[in-house]
Amino acid sequence: MIDPAYSPQEARGIWVFLEQDAGVLAPVSLELLAKARALATESGAELTGLLVGGDLAALEATAAKLDLDRVVSVAHPLLTQFTAEAYAHAVDQVIRTQKPDIFLLGATAYGRDLAGRLAVMLRTGLTADCTDLALEAGTGLLLGEVSGFGGGVLATIRCEQHRPQMATVRPGVFPEPAAADRAAAKVERVNVDVPAAKCLVKVVARHRKTGVDISRAERLVVAGAGARGEMPNIEALAQALGAEIGATRVAVDEGWAERERQIGQTGVIARPKLALVWGASGASQFTCGIDQAEMVVAVNQDPEAAIFESADICIVDEVAPVVKALVAELQSHGGAE
Ligand SMILES: Cc1cc2nc3c(=O)[nH]c(=O)nc-3n(C[C@H](O)[C@H](O)[C@H](O)COP(=O)(O)OP(=O)(O)OC[C@H]3O[C@@H](n4cnc5c(N)ncnc54)[C@H](O)[C@@H]3O)c2cc1C
Repeated sequence: MIDPAYSPQEARGIWVFLEQDAGVLAPVSLELLAKARALATESGAELTGLLVGGDLAALEATAAKLDLDRVVSVAHPLLTQFTAEAYAHAVDQVIRTQKPDIFLLGATAYGRDLAGRLAVMLRTGLTADCTDLALEAGTGLLLGEVSGFGGGVLATIRCEQHRPQMATVRPGVFPEPAAADRAAAKVERVNVDVPAAKCLVKVVARHRKTGVDISRAERLVVAGAGARGEMPNIEALAQALGAEIGATRVAVDEGWAERERQIGQTGVIARPKLALVWGASGASQFTCGIDQAEMVVAVNQDPEAAIFESADICIVDEVAPVVKALVAELQSHGGAE
C-alpha cells in the first residue's frame, strides 16, 4: 500500500473547495456547503472553505458570510486564472500542512481537473461524481454514493486509510443553502510557493460560453424520442409556460436540442419546480437528472413505460394531441402565470 500523506488520526475537519472564476463563486460550491454543514454538525467537525486565486480580498468578505467556521485564503499572482498544475501545487501544500479529514469539490471542469491531480499527489482516493454523501455510523468515514455501469447500480465508496477523503459532486445534486445566520467566519491567509516552473500552461485567451444553464430553470419542457415531429409544439409550450427546453440524449443526438440541454447522467442534473416530459422511456441515465424535480408530468403512449415510476402525473397518450391541446389552452389564457 502506498503511504498516505498523513494518517486518519492526524486528520481534522471538513473542507469545501470554494471554486471561483473571475471573482464569482461557483454555485456548486454553495450547494456543497449545505451538505458539508450537515455532515459537520453530525460529526462535530469544523467546516472550512478554501479560496484560491489572485486577488481574493472581495471574495474573502463574501466567503466570511457563508455558513463556514473558517475560510482559508490562498492568494498568489500565478493563481489568478485556474490552471490545474498551479492550483494543484498550491492546494497540495495547504492540505499537507492543515490535514483536512474530508475535502469536497464541485464536479465542474475545474473541480474535476484539480481533484484528480490532488488525489494522485496526496496518494489518496477520490470518489468522483457523487450523487450523495453521508457519514458511516460508528466509523464516521465519508460515504460517497456513485452510480456505475451506465446507471444500473448504485455503489457506496469509502476511503479507509488515506487522507483527505476526497469527493466531487455534480452541480444540482444538492440544493443551495438558505442564508446563514451566524457570526462571520474567521479568514486565515496562507502563503504558498508557486514556482513559475509549475505553470507550464499559459492562458492566452478566454471565451465565455454564452449558452443556457438549465440546471437552474424553474420549469422544464423535456423532449424525448417520442416527441419526433413535435418540437415546434414543444417549443411553443415552453414559451407559453416561460420554461426552458430540456432533452433526453436521444433527442439531443437527433439534433432537436443543443447538447447543453441534455438531462441526466451525462447531461445536467436539474431541480425544477415543474418538469413536463414528452415521449421519454425513463432510462435511469435520464431520470437521475429529474429526480430532484418537485413535480414531474410524463406523457408516453406506453402504459408500462418506466418514466411513469418517476412521474407525479402520468398521461398515457400520444405526444401530439396532448401537447397541442395544452398549448391551445395556455395560449387562450395568455400564457403561464
Ligand atoms: C453511460 C450512459 C450515459 C447516458 N447518459 C444519458 C443522459 O445523460 N441522458 C439521457 O437522456 N440518456 C442517457 N443515456 C441513454 C439512456 O440510456 C437512454 O437511451 C435515453 O435516455 C433514451 O431516450 P428516450 O427516452 O428519449 O428514447 P427511447 O428510450 O427511445 O424512448 C422513447 C419513448 O417514447 C415513447 N413514445 C414513442 N413515440 C411516442 C409518441 N408518439 N407519443 C408518446 N410516446 C411515445 C416510447 O413509448 C418510449 O417509451 C445514457 C446511456 C449510457 C449507457
